[in-house]
Amino acid sequence: MPTRRLTRAFVLFFAALAFAPSALAQALPTPEQYLGFRVGTDKKLATWPQVVAYMQMAAKSSDRVRYEELAKSTMGHPFPLLTISSPANLARLDDIRAAQRQLAYPYSLSPQDAESLIAKNPAVILITLTIHASEIGSTQMSLELVHRLATEKSPYIQNLLDNVILLLCPSVNPDGQVMIIDWYNKNVGTEFEGSSMPWLYHKYVGHDNNRDSYMLTQVETRNVTKILYKDWFPFVFLDEHQMGSSGPRIFVPPFDDPVNLNIDPAVMATSNLLGMRMFTALNAAGYEGVQYGERFTWWWQGSAKNGAWYHNMAGLLTEVASARIASPIEQQRAPLFQTAQREAAGDAPGETASATDPRRPLAAPTDTWPRTNYPRPWLGGTWRLRDIIDYELTITYALLEGAAADRAMLQRNFYNLNRKAIDAGKKGDPFAYVIPPVQHDPGAVAKLLEVLDLAGIEIYRAPAAFTADGKEYVSGSIVIPMAQPFRNYVKDLLEPQKYPMKPTATGQAPERPYDVTGWTLPLQMGVAAYKVDNPFDAKVDRVSPIPAIPGELVLAKSARNSTPAFIVAPGPNAKSLLTNRLLKSGAEVSWVTDSVQASTRGWRYPPGSLLVRNITAEKLQTLVMDLGLSGEQVTRADIAAIGGKLISLRLPRIGLYQPWTANMDEGWTRWLLEQYEFPHATLHNADIRAGGLAEKFDVILFASQSKSSILNGSRGEWVRPEYRGGLGEEGSRAIEDFVRSGGTLVTLDDAADFAIDTLGLPVRNALRGVSRDKFFCPGAILEIFVDNHTPLGYGMLPKASGYFLNSPAFELTAPFTTTAARAIARYPATNPLQSGWIGGPEHLYDRVAVADVTLGKGRVVLIGFRAQFRAQSHATFKFLFNALHLSAAEKR
Ligand SMILES: [Zn+2]
Repeated sequence: MPTRRLTRAFVLFFAALAFAPSALAQALPTPEQYLGFRVGTDKKLATWPQVVAYMQMAAKSSDRVRYEELAKSTMGHPFPLLTISSPANLARLDDIRAAQRQLAYPYSLSPQDAESLIAKNPAVILITLTIHASEIGSTQMSLELVHRLATEKSPYIQNLLDNVILLLCPSVNPDGQVMIIDWYNKNVGTEFEGSSMPWLYHKYVGHDNNRDSYMLTQVETRNVTKILYKDWFPFVFLDEHQMGSSGPRIFVPPFDDPVNLNIDPAVMATSNLLGMRMFTALNAAGYEGVQYGERFTWWWQGSAKNGAWYHNMAGLLTEVASARIASPIEQQRAPLFQTAQREAAGDAPGETASATDPRRPLAAPTDTWPRTNYPRPWLGGTWRLRDIIDYELTITYALLEGAAADRAMLQRNFYNLNRKAIDAGKKGDPFAYVIPPVQHDPGAVAKLLEVLDLAGIEIYRAPAAFTADGKEYVSGSIVIPMAQPFRNYVKDLLEPQKYPMKPTATGQAPERPYDVTGWTLPLQMGVAAYKVDNPFDAKVDRVSPIPAIPGELVLAKSARNSTPAFIVAPGPNAKSLLTNRLLKSGAEVSWVTDSVQASTRGWRYPPGSLLVRNITAEKLQTLVMDLGLSGEQVTRADIAAIGGKLISLRLPRIGLYQPWTANMDEGWTRWLLEQYEFPHATLHNADIRAGGLAEKFDVILFASQSKSSILNGSRGEWVRPEYRGGLGEEGSRAIEDFVRSGGTLVTLDDAADFAIDTLGLPVRNALRGVSRDKFFCPGAILEIFVDNHTPLGYGMLPKASGYFLNSPAFELTAPFTTTAARAIARYPATNPLQSGWIGGPEHLYDRVAVADVTLGKGRVVLIGFRAQFRAQSHATFKFLFNALHLSAAEKR
């Protein structure tokens, strides 16, 4: 029993402390003494609390290790950061930190002064582990790494400590460590050993926790971002991952094509150089299956180490083949010189492990062709957790050696690149981005500025009007000058992407990109940001942190001829949050179905504006101000003028379907519902199959998921029976009963196919069955036209941008007597591409993007694209929010 052994190790350790308090450095037990087993032993794992306690012990017993905790994880677990270096370096950490900041923002740092900083500064590097919790090896490895760095008295270790400050996050997803190890320990030794965990390994975002690095929605992402761009500016950043189990044993940089032109070639070269140190060390140690330069690309934004590239830092990724958590994998052997076949992109071990029976050996590797970047291909055999740890120790020390050896060059590159970016920005193209203060959704503007500020971008506000590129900008406009060190980062997030897809022969499908192809934040968030190409003069003041944009509720001058009724404009997403808060507090909220001219200020309000009654002016004013909304008090005459054209709202009773397949889109949806304070219940297969849904819910919501996955879930004898299967026929019937008796079904993206087929809707997914050589759009931003005079489109602009990710698109077919379908949003009859890449755009011409279908007494809302894409697409959240509120509107 591991616990019993652990207790014994603790007793020995504290006994040693009690008797020999002066011999601290000798007192740190080895990980094996501490755990009672060697790290990486088959089927044994150090738990997260054990790892945290060991790191605290290391800091107490060694003058080379400091331990601190950043903001607690989403589920309240400690999130440690270790700082490891020589005692002399640790004694002057504040100076080193100040020097790092000077190198990062070198506006007034001359090359001579930079050289004198470089001469005495160690290399500051960041290593993060197990962001993907099932990629378990590196956190386990960290015990041996820290023990050696904390205790060994060799010239080798002394050299590393003298020349490097290692910032180490033993896990950037502590919650996932707890969940995955609990799940593994529950199943080890049973017939379910090696089965995938049926829920996400991060409370909200699962594997997409490595897709959050610029939107910063999760606390863990914010912790890493703070280390990178506020506190430390480490110019080398390594993120250690694991990948599928059947191919190469490890990937190290250099990365693969395509190249994003916003990454400086010197950043690529520096990352490649350090990667080649790893490649060399692994081969020198005689390890097989070492590969660089394939699958993992220089293109996208979203993972933390990629964000570092656009900040002129060397960002490195390693991916080791996975075992089944701590259970070994057997793989059939292949001969050398099998034809090289590129494997599909993706680093989720689940992708290969969950679909196959974990009790059987894996099929032999298919790519065993020796080549420069894969000189000794993996031929199969046994692969275990200890192998992962050995490979990871090797690359981690190789990186420390590289950082120590190239200390001066790495610092000089960082300094020079930051200078170069400042100079490039002064020349223009672009010179700045300007964001005017009056916008459709001020909350989205504030969010955009906040995430840029947290990523180290310098943001200014103009106190007076100015002219740039011939355009007038009012006072209060935000100016982001490009003459700043992290220019490439701002540019890449604000400009449209042009993904360099390689041309293919007719009939040949284009290559799949590693992840998405476009992310432009102003488009996704519905924010107007203007590129200014030529230099201009304007007085500006620095803004940091970004303040909330206050709202405004104009009250009538005379209380006598006014009523306690108010109207609030519907453009900002926060109007949905306001609606929920008001309904919970007992206020009356209605949608106004026509545009309204209110007399107090005389503003005109579009359809979908909120009429709010049964609340005091003070209370509403506080809410409206806090949420950045705008509105005014309305008179009796105003209300009389809109009489009869109101839809009264009630808090909807929401059921969100959660399959046992760890669906990230469900997690993002749940996150968004919580952020906007929609009360909701989670529905599992059994809850839906039980039926009677209409009594409990107004609306049932399906996040993006394929029809077959919804119907069938996970299958296989190795899946625990309680998590096997999907909705099946019984569940489908329960959903149909629910809709026909008056409920609302909302499906996002892929889930539309389930609704269309199961309910026999008069809608066709025009992209179903269209092959990839004809149409392909793997993550791009597309133009959509919106009917904003109907409740589902309320508050939207008539032209917006939708996030399309291999999504469906609809055609409305002839209605039956009891059903009718209408388009709420559609794609234009021209190429809709705004950012990213699309192949075969004509397949989308005039297709419906959002459809509203009545069925029996109920309704089905098909939102064809990712209206809530990774909680980034603020421009289209309202489709989802409106659908939820509509489900309970005017119901008693
Ligand atoms: Zn990973």
